[in-house]
Amino acid sequence: MSDFGVPSPDPTAIGDTSTPPFARLPDPETLFARRADRFRTLAKGADLGPYLDFLGRLCDVQDAVQDGLPDVPPPPPEVIARAKAHAMPPIDRTAAVADESFMAIFDRLVARAREVDMPDAARAALARVADADATARVAMAEAVVANRIPVEALAEHVFAAAAVQVHFARLAAALDATRLVPVGEGACPACGGPPVSSMVVGWPGAHGNRFCVCSTCRTAWNHVRVKCCLCGETKGISYREIEGGDGVVKAEVCEACAAQVKILYQVKDPDLDPVADDVATLALDIKMRDEGIRRGGVDPFLIGW
Ligand SMILES: [Zn+2]
Ligand SMILES: [Zn+2]
Repeated sequence: MSDFGVPSPDPTAIGDTSTPPFARLPDPETLFARRADRFRTLAKGADLGPYLDFLGRLCDVQDAVQDGLPDVPPPPPEVIARAKAHAMPPIDRTAAVADESFMAIFDRLVARAREVDMPDAARAALARVADADATARVAMAEAVVANRIPVEALAEHVFAAAAVQVHFARLAAALDATRLVPVGEGACPACGGPPVSSMVVGWPGAHGNRFCVCSTCRTAWNHVRVKCCLCGETKGISYREIEGGDGVVKAEVCEACAAQVKILYQVKDPDLDPVADDVATLALDIKMRDEGIRRGGVDPFLIGW
């Protein structure tokens, strides 16, 4: 199962299955619960098992903190129109984390996470987040959305990123996918965030098409195959995988960027998750790094990479 759930009818796809929708919004009501299950499945017998298990529990918390939250209203029409006219994302990343509704989610997430079994280092980091005042918490969230997380506080920012993901998925879910427009290479049309990975999907109306997936809000946007997800270059693109790999997760390498972003063939395995399977294939990032190719995908659960 994808974390986008059963695709709902998309007006852009009806009657023309050869034209995939430009964007598909996340469904926060199912996204985190499914991802939690995927982390648990991937944890079995994996070298990274304890970390994947912990992330599964953190995704459970992301799912649970949404209980009883008020619905997110869509942005005013003038905001949508202005964003579209200027090819800008309708969600303002910096303003979104200064919002009271974000702080409510962050508070809930910290409280719930304290009940979760986790490694000692993570628990110590959580205690520091719990002790942080509102100003410090906003600063953490700002660092997450700006992708400028301080190396000395990576563990704290995992919790801030988890809260940001919940908030942004809810903001994105309130948008109208048919009104989103491309906002530039390597940028989410809903929130401007960088991709975590990309997926070749089996969705009705989009079968075999590739979508980049936003690291922040989980919106997916159509991006043709054999084209760098970061810079848009189509020359010098190659695909690599771990020796003996099953071909469902590869690194799409761009010579121009000297970077790679993972491509997940969800069309071959519908259970693949753009975040969980990205973390679980860290060995591929290590192999690529050893060859001088940096990791281009941004994953809040692989911060520091
Ligand atoms: Zn986004
Ligand atoms: Zn590139």
